[in-house]
Amino acid sequence: MKDPDKTISRRTFIGCGVASVLGAGIGLTSDASILGAQESEKTPEQTSEEKTSKPQIKEYRKLGGTGWKVSDIAFGGAGMKDPSLLEYAMDRGINYVDTARQYYDMEKVIGQLFPQKRDKLFVTTKLMPELITIDVTTDQITTAIDESIERLNTDYVDACLIHSVGDPNLGDIERLRNPNIHEAFAKAKQAGKIRAWGASSHGPTMVEEFNWLLDNSDIGLIMPGMNYLTKGLEPILAKARKKGVAVVAMKSMSMARKVDFSEFMKEGRTLRQALLKWLLGRSNIDTISLTMRNFEDVDEFVGASGKPKLSLKEKEVLEKYGMRINSEYCRPGCAGCLHACPNNVPIHDILRYRLYFNNYGREKYAMGLYASLPESRKALQCTSCTGSCASSCPYSIPIREKLIEAHADLTV
Ligand code: SF4
Ligand code: SF4
Repeated sequence: MKDPDKTISRRTFIGCGVASVLGAGIGLTSDASILGAQESEKTPEQTSEEKTSKPQIKEYRKLGGTGWKVSDIAFGGAGMKDPSLLEYAMDRGINYVDTARQYYDMEKVIGQLFPQKRDKLFVTTKLMPELITIDVTTDQITTAIDESIERLNTDYVDACLIHSVGDPNLGDIERLRNPNIHEAFAKAKQAGKIRAWGASSHGPTMVEEFNWLLDNSDIGLIMPGMNYLTKGLEPILAKARKKGVAVVAMKSMSMARKVDFSEFMKEGRTLRQALLKWLLGRSNIDTISLTMRNFEDVDEFVGASGKPKLSLKEKEVLEKYGMRINSEYCRPGCAGCLHACPNNVPIHDILRYRLYFNNYGREKYAMGLYASLPESRKALQCTSCTGSCASSCPYSIPIREKLIEAHADLTV
């Protein structure tokens, strides 16, 4: 295992001076390792024998300029109801958790582990997507940050993100120019409520809006949707690295949950591990946040840690996988069909909801998102349409057919 740096408490981090955090975050680390994360208490069910036989995180990577080294596999778990799953992941060596105000009560569930385990985790949360508007006030953002801190049962979060930039449903790039946003985050940093702020995105204008933020703000972390099948993010990642901005990948499994590569799995490896290894081998990615729904997910994902080198067999399987879903998988960050529907059906969103429904095991959430669309924008429109959107997809996804299927899946 590589030598991870020690974490620091809020008191230490305020004591070091906000200027240090802003300008030279890495200076905040010390030589001691994050032994807290490695040696955290066992969950009651685990014997010491089980603990040592389970996969462990093998690599910690510098998280931009935050002053932390984090496990290359990070815990995401929208909808997590029991903190013992996160404790189990911490026992495997995971020291980064991703949450959001939007993820039901996940902030409160994580908070059940605090204050005892607070210093062992880098905690990222995200504000409600609709909060960030062209005229949101500084006070409104400050209140939202305070509420998340309270729900997390702590007195600071490590990173606070704008949830879903690059989503035209929430506004265009103009909202990011609102000075109140920048002022609110600066004040929160000064007060020691956050170490860094940033943005997440899987929306059609993700690249454009990340670019703007990298050029025009002091963000410390970006969280792009990316995986084996996405293209075109490399310049953004390189720019982030150059500026000391952390990169946390998400949406990394594409459609892997539903694809049967059981023959490959018999050999003790899994398709999902191959997808992770591929991503861990890309430049300029600090960690990958993954939705972990049970202990098996944790073990499988942690099993890919520190292993970016793919075997020939794994490369072959990934190629087959890519060919199999190329014309089915709607990519995060793609804007090909953004203006292709004369009826204003949000193609990209509906295909993503379907992905949540079919591949992420989040049926209720996906149906709720779909139900919130006005009837005039639902895919029922597609049944009586000739499908002029078809030619807009660079991956030849049969959009009309997939949207009609999505409507059936997502409607009660
Ligand atoms: S099939 Fe027609 S209604 Fe449906 S998204 Fe395409 S153009 Fe729009
Ligand atoms: S349907 Fe095709 S063009 Fe539209 S967002 Fe998905 S991948 Fe891009």
